[in-house]
Amino acid sequence: MQYVSTRGHQPLGTFTDVLLSGLAPDGGLAMPERISTFSAAELERLRELPYVELAYEVMHPFISDIPEDDLRELLRRTYRAEVFGSEDITPLTALGDSGLYLLELSNGPSLAFKDMAMQFLGHAFEYVLEREDRRVNILGATSGDTGSAAEYAMLGKERVNVFMLSPQGRMSRFQQAQMYSLDEPNIFNIAVAGVFDDCQDLVKAVNADAEFKARYDIGAVNSINWGRVLAQAVYYFKGYFALNLPAGAEADFCVPSGNFGNVFAGYLAREMGLPVGRLIVASNENSVLHEFFSGGVYHVWPAERVAVTSSPSMDIGKASNFERFLYLMADADAGQVGTWWEEVAAGRPVDLRESAHWAAVQASGFAAGRSSHADRLATIRRVDTDFGRLIDPHTADGVLVGESFKRPGVPMVCLETALPAKFAETVREAVGREPARPARFAGIEERPRHFTELPNDAEALKAFIAEKLGEWAQ
Ligand SMILES: *Cc1c(COP(=O)(O)O)cnc(C)c1O
Repeated sequence: MQYVSTRGHQPLGTFTDVLLSGLAPDGGLAMPERISTFSAAELERLRELPYVELAYEVMHPFISDIPEDDLRELLRRTYRAEVFGSEDITPLTALGDSGLYLLELSNGPSLAFKDMAMQFLGHAFEYVLEREDRRVNILGATSGDTGSAAEYAMLGKERVNVFMLSPQGRMSRFQQAQMYSLDEPNIFNIAVAGVFDDCQDLVKAVNADAEFKARYDIGAVNSINWGRVLAQAVYYFKGYFALNLPAGAEADFCVPSGNFGNVFAGYLAREMGLPVGRLIVASNENSVLHEFFSGGVYHVWPAERVAVTSSPSMDIGKASNFERFLYLMADADAGQVGTWWEEVAAGRPVDLRESAHWAAVQASGFAAGRSSHADRLATIRRVDTDFGRLIDPHTADGVLVGESFKRPGVPMVCLETALPAKFAETVREAVGREPARPARFAGIEERPRHFTELPNDAEALKAFIAEKLGEWAQ
């Protein structure tokens, strides 16, 4: 399987080529040149498979350059009960007889769904770097969950260093502790005097310095990484099969969304033939995606319009994976995508209402809803009272919006994107008690903190990286 860019149809190579690179040279995102599909009979065969086998079946058509046995071994190493808490890996729980379900994606090392893909990336990076005798320095920015998921995935990986920028003092205490308590030779936490957008701009500035980037083998594991999207498609299959529906019957999914990576993986599963009826995008107050799906206009929100909310991992004004979706809506017309993204880059709206593309969007099964802080508190409280189940604020966004789109007779699977322990402040505000926390995180806030403070300055960041890497030569 070959990959192409959403903007220019440039060949980007095979899976392992796009795994280690970020944006395509023309600024677009990597997409497979076609999406393989399962027939109804093949889907029946997948129904009973354990997670690792299912992951293999879903992913291997897109991965032509890792031998079958090696890929199986990578997946076996990744999706283990010791790492994800159960043999099911992603258990499905019914919320009473409401027809709503929770697909548990957050029982991994960092307690958020990002582990599902990031753990795979950790093993896949190690494998590819070993094979090619290379090393990489991952430079990333996090507003909370990505950083800890990436660091836990790269712990002890000899060919990988992680430089992770975070906005100083702006993550939850628990999230800070998750990252800063790590005392590992290959992990560098950098607290930047600024906000998340500043961190992201610093990453961009370093990447824009082609010489520095090449000299220090700077890589990324951000939300546009194709390997993450592909690994995430697997649990839609797992969740669907766990419902035990008659062959061909539809299920709907509701996904708390920010960068559109998780829900796009659901769309990929639907395109592969999984009977997904509707895909519901749940936003918080930062409802740029809701604006698009309800009005047909995609207009990126400038940083100053993006509010700080109690579901902070969705505080995003620009959904970086959205380009992949519009590429498919335009029938892989990269010229069209290029034109749209010139508008996006200029801060102008992309208006699809009068075009044939809008009909494609409406046929795609997507819909969207949004919620407020008060909605989240009320939903956390109600799910606790009615179903005896404590959920986190992001998952609450999903349950609230999922409920509002529930169709009679069609199950609605709501994705649990984090555990409540990660966002104890909001959960306490909702139900008046502390959420349980896994024993390994007891007292984590009191542990010594390992991080470096840097000003919001790209030259200072480059100097720090250069100093840590010393004579870096492959
Ligand atoms: C990252 C994250 C999201 C948003 O996922 P996207 O793939 O960016 O849409 C939602 N909830 C939680 C808890 C997250 O960490």
